[in-house]
Amino acid sequence: MAIRKVIYINDERLRQKAKKVKDFNPALKQLAQDMLETMRSHEGVGLAGPQIGVMQRIFVAEIPLPDDKEAEPHPQSGKVYVLINPEIMKMSNNLEEGNEGCLSIPTWQGTVERPEWVEVKAQNLQGRKIRLKVDDLLARIFQHEIDHLNVVLYIDHIKDPEKLWQILPEDEQKEKTEEPQLAV
Ligand SMILES: [Zn+2]
Repeated sequence: MAIRKVIYINDERLRQKAKKVKDFNPALKQLAQDMLETMRSHEGVGLAGPQIGVMQRIFVAEIPLPDDKEAEPHPQSGKVYVLINPEIMKMSNNLEEGNEGCLSIPTWQGTVERPEWVEVKAQNLQGRKIRLKVDDLLARIFQHEIDHLNVVLYIDHIKDPEKLWQILPEDEQKEKTEEPQLAV
């Protein structure tokens, strides 16, 4: 297992289309493990291949259980998803607004309108075909990650600049100065 380097918005690979996965080999399993480890180390809930410079159609997702055992967990938390060659087959006509961030666009957040549920077809690590219908937070994560595979970033969905803002808490400013300058 290894934590891979997450690339940022100024890296052109985030604007290159990911290729279909054809070999369901041990290297793919290793990649999925590395992606999960990388996502967790950054406290993310999803990560797509291109975000670590791997131009393959794969993403991982997991809503973690809260650290505080007293806290109410998100109803979709605790399940690990590894989706390969995912495609959205159906989506809700109802749009829902929600806040999103992206590990490739650190310190920024925005409000994005997305269909409230999606039905996705994909393959698992063994290459077996799977179909999943997800709503709520998972629907948002899946759409955000599939967007990455299709060179779309969440900021592309935001037309109103008031719906995009930067979070820079004072106590974090020192370490954040090492982050690259972001063109949003
Ligand atoms: Zn992202």
